[in-house]
Amino acid sequence: MHEMALMSEALRLAEESARAAGAARITALRLRIGALSSVVPEAMQFAWDVARRGTLAETAILQIEPVPAAAQCARCESEYPCDDFWTPCPRCGAVGGELVRGQELEIAAVEIEPAATPNQPCVRNADAV
Ligand SMILES: [Zn+2]
Repeated sequence: MHEMALMSEALRLAEESARAAGAARITALRLRIGALSSVVPEAMQFAWDVARRGTLAETAILQIEPVPAAAQCARCESEYPCDDFWTPCPRCGAVGGELVRGQELEIAAVEIEPAATPNQPCVRNADAV
């Protein structure tokens, strides 16, 4: 199941950007998954439940944004939705259009909760120890 490896990598990247932003935790991770990316969304969900343990995303929500596949016809250049690589162009019937969408596997968004900032007054007068 390669979803586990993909999810671990996505989580690693999400944690990295969350840390860089000074987040206390990740509240949601949104992934964009193309219909032809060979990733099974259900398997991603399962991998998520396992992989997020002990990470900043432990209590986060996983949102999967499916991307329908589309191809561009090599002959008439029209763009059309397709279910696989062999869907013929509905306009001219040519087969073998170039896939322009549907193989995505990327992080669409990482929502974070900022680290709690103590409610300190701006002026501090006890800096010196
Ligand atoms: Zn065509």
